Amino acid sequence: MDKPLVAIVGRPNVGKSTLFNRIVGRRIAIVEDTAGITRDRIYAEAEWNGREFVMIDTGGILLNEVDPLKNEVTIQAQVALDEADVILFMVDATTGVTPGDEDIADQLRTSSKPVLLVANKADNDVREQDAMEFFALGVGDIHPLSALNGRAVADLLDEVVKALPEEGKEPAYPEDAIRIAIIGRPNVGKSSLVNAILGEKRAIVSDIPGTTRDAVDTVLRRGDDEIVLIDTAGIRKSGKIQGSVEYYTVLRAVRAMERADVAMIVIDAFDGLRDGDKRVAGFAHEAGRACVIVVNKWDLCSEEDMREFAEKVHKQIPFLDYAPVVFTSAVEGMGITDAVDTAMDAAANHAMRISTGELNRILQDAVDEHPYSRKGKDFRVRYATMSDVKPPTIVIFVNNPDLAHFSYVRYLENRIRREYSYEGTPLRLIIRRAKKER
Ligand code: GDP
Ligand code: GDP
Repeated sequence: MDKPLVAIVGRPNVGKSTLFNRIVGRRIAIVEDTAGITRDRIYAEAEWNGREFVMIDTGGILLNEVDPLKNEVTIQAQVALDEADVILFMVDATTGVTPGDEDIADQLRTSSKPVLLVANKADNDVREQDAMEFFALGVGDIHPLSALNGRAVADLLDEVVKALPEEGKEPAYPEDAIRIAIIGRPNVGKSSLVNAILGEKRAIVSDIPGTTRDAVDTVLRRGDDEIVLIDTAGIRKSGKIQGSVEYYTVLRAVRAMERADVAMIVIDAFDGLRDGDKRVAGFAHEAGRACVIVVNKWDLCSEEDMREFAEKVHKQIPFLDYAPVVFTSAVEGMGITDAVDTAMDAAANHAMRISTGELNRILQDAVDEHPYSRKGKDFRVRYATMSDVKPPTIVIFVNNPDLAHFSYVRYLENRIRREYSYEGTPLRLIIRRAKKER
């Protein structure tokens, strides 16, 4: 459940994201309106020889709020040291050792964690030989490979799996519990909210043995519901964070999300939506979890209009338009019950199936009402099926996927949402060519 984390660090352009993509594999194309998300995926689950782990490309965590006294790569390396179980330190075999590599090596050399030195762009035998010069960095064995053509990547993965920590015990979560991760920038009120939720009259609270190191998990019971709260707040107090808080916020938010059904994305009403909030929201969306936006500290803004505020938030993070916005004051205990109820509803929607018959009826009606054609060709839906839930994933087989303009797919999504309350959950629509028309 708490999968080990493997981080790739290294100078820009050595090939980190190329290796990341090769290891995590290309995911099936997901057609969705990703306005507002314009970056690459930097975080994904991977598996090799039956061992599961999570890969992170630290080069992809680009932030505005980097401490000007530190260089960004150094911060990334520090994050990897603090958070990861195995570190892949990547260098470029075509350039040889550079001062930038030496800086990172200095930092990693003191680590007690396994560091694998990956000499990338070793596309052929000659370059593989050249890569031996990286011994000078003093970081241990060299793994020459080519992220681009795949050469020796399997060998590296064998080594990664060997270096992973032993599989730990799964935390003893109650079976049907809904897991809620409370995520957000520092100081938005996450701890206060957790306390307010735990202090609710309806809540009966107990600790979970086996709770993981980077978040504090608590079980509570409300009526018939069991809930696990995954709190990412306490961790901020743990480290040598200095000026790079956001790296940790982001990283820990994504890790917490991994074991959650629903994310409560907490923002500070008084501050409004900041870039850091947008990033956290982007990750929640990308993780495919149910989402609720919690506008906390509403006591400081009680003059304002909730509806207007919610609209403004949705405009700033349009990719989360399915996420309900709730208003709380953790200090005054306002809106807490509603926030938890909304999260529970979102979690239920996240797991909700539609029958194949119903689904096909909705989509056929949608196409009949608003037919779509491009360059004289009609777009036709042959049939659709719900292939998965959490999040609900619908495969739509069509006559010609090239005709599936994203705005039309969006229209189909909205038609489904009109009939089934999928509030709080992303829907994934996958467009495929119907077989007989190949
Ligand atoms: P990052 O900045 O470290 O994430 O680097 P990228 O993954 O974006 O790669 C930088 C450049 O190096 C791109 O042009 C890649 O195509 C190229 N590249 C990555 N891996 C290899 C490799 O194994 N061999 C060669 N020849 N080029 C590579
Ligand atoms: P975290 O870092 O996200 O866990 O935030 P904390 O829960 O530690 O709260 C940060 C600060 O905001 C503390 O001083 C809290 O007292 C304050 N705070 C939290 N919730 C509220 C709220 O609803 N209203 C007001 N006015 N202050 C709050």
